[in-house]
Amino acid sequence: MSSSPILAEQILNALREAVGPPPVALHAPTFNGNEWAYVKECLDSTFVSSVGSYVSQFEHDLMRFTKADHAVAVVNGTSALHIALILADVKAGDEVLMPALTFVATANAIVYCNAIPHFVESDERTLNVDVGKLREYLIRETRQHANQCVNRQTGRVIRAIVPVHTFGHPVDVEELLSIAQDFNIKLIEDAAEAIGSYYKGKHAGTFGLLGTLSFNGNKTITTGGGGAILTNDPSLASRARHLTTTAKLSHAWVYRHDEVGYNYRMPNINAAIGCAQLEQLPGKLVAKRQLFDIYNAAFRKVSGVQLVAEPPHSISNYWLQTLLLQPEMRDQRDQVLEATNKAGYGTRPIWTLMSELPMFLSSPKMDLSVANSLSQRIINIPSSPSLVIREP
Ligand SMILES: *Cc1c(COP(=O)(O)O)cnc(C)c1O
Repeated sequence: MSSSPILAEQILNALREAVGPPPVALHAPTFNGNEWAYVKECLDSTFVSSVGSYVSQFEHDLMRFTKADHAVAVVNGTSALHIALILADVKAGDEVLMPALTFVATANAIVYCNAIPHFVESDERTLNVDVGKLREYLIRETRQHANQCVNRQTGRVIRAIVPVHTFGHPVDVEELLSIAQDFNIKLIEDAAEAIGSYYKGKHAGTFGLLGTLSFNGNKTITTGGGGAILTNDPSLASRARHLTTTAKLSHAWVYRHDEVGYNYRMPNINAAIGCAQLEQLPGKLVAKRQLFDIYNAAFRKVSGVQLVAEPPHSISNYWLQTLLLQPEMRDQRDQVLEATNKAGYGTRPIWTLMSELPMFLSSPKMDLSVANSLSQRIINIPSSPSLVIREP
């Protein structure tokens, strides 16, 4: 009889039990609906680019699904963030609060506006912005001047906050709204990972002034590459549409542009795929919850790790299933990643903290002890909905 095997071995066994033999990807897209039919229709129409009926159909379907009043489809999640920041009046030299523990796109979009990311601490339980510590920090470190929030240290205006619904788990967006109001900061939700996630029954990305989605190939549904801007403000929606279509004034044949715009509109052929993917989203969401239950049963027996569950008051889309190692197990993380990937299971560490990347070393930041600890203890495990359902 061997004593208890090392963690890597136990995790491998649990993965085998839960999702069967390898190879198993971290997250693979599936196209089991009307994708081929809609793409064929799109090609037959010759409207493959930024004009065509699938773009407005996709936006309409997104509005119906999220209950946002407006949706503007764009080329990717990063461009959605870029435009949302511009629309929130983020200007050169402003600071924008965002979690240190996220994908680099959020920080990049801030820098596209010549603004400065300001990194916020994470909550151990939700992996999201720690709203309690954030409020205390803002009370201590900022002052109000002419209805603007000013960083006492740098003298710069903190214009906006971009929380992320990490791995699809909703952030406490009610408290963030209240912080945004109390400190005169604009709220933009990076809901790139959170289509199909809800906080108190309301879809992620529909609480703030603006919200953004991503339809990259590894997300819950994909358009190849794509994104969207959500808002309930009609004038922001029409500004978003204008800016993402080179700021061209509407006319049958004349080219006139009234400001420097962007070529960010989603092409029709991508939107065609998106329409078909949205039809399958409810089934994928059910499968992702079932996968959580399956993993929960398999990992209950593994001591020293915990499967991350959706936060209170929320429904997560469980985009990426997540193992959190106990602090004393952190030294074994790389061994687990090595063993599982070698065996053919797609597992990944969470992102490197933004505050440790060379381009953001001098950015302002809160104490990031929890984010730092989390960044060393998180392992994402295979999360495709196709692991559970045989889709039609
Ligand atoms: C995927 C993602 C994005 C950006 O999406 P792209 O479509 O790849 O540009 C932004 N923020 C977060 C948190 C993401 O996970």
